[in-house]
Amino acid sequence: MQNRLPEIIDPIHLADKRGELHGQIPLKQLIRLTEKLVNDEGIVSVDLYFGREGRTPKIDGKLKTTLHLQCQNCLESVEFEIDHDVNLGVATKFEHVERLPDEVEPLLLEEETMLLTTLVEDELLLSLPDYPRHTHDCMANEIVKKYTAAFEEEATKKPNPFSVLATLKSTGES
Ligand SMILES: [Zn+2]
Repeated sequence: MQNRLPEIIDPIHLADKRGELHGQIPLKQLIRLTEKLVNDEGIVSVDLYFGREGRTPKIDGKLKTTLHLQCQNCLESVEFEIDHDVNLGVATKFEHVERLPDEVEPLLLEEETMLLTTLVEDELLLSLPDYPRHTHDCMANEIVKKYTAAFEEEATKKPNPFSVLATLKSTGES
């Protein structure tokens, strides 16, 4: 499956021949992205459609993956699903970026060709949340855990209530 995706793409050429790319890329290949992850297990499903809208070369499609990010509350791993719509307008010159329709995101080509992983990685980096967090109240769990642990520790330290009573009794009587 992975081998069906080319390493290097020529977006303009693909747009002219209305090319499509379907396949998977291991997350391990996306170094800039995996730096931000708790682990680099997993794959990205890539479905890209090239074409032209008027004169603008366009790339549409979808990127899907599940990333393991670090929860900013409890610092444990949190799964984050990405189902990202690609909507790129290709520009070959910086001046052309301004001519792109507002609804498309510009992809400025520095050269005729580019690495497919660069495109995929840039798109995924844009869809990362600023503060990944568990959707459940993970901090509450942490607090409960700590509290329970402290309580149990305290409970084992506490003398048996009967022995306290016994001491009270004995001191009271004297
Ligand atoms: Zn958490």
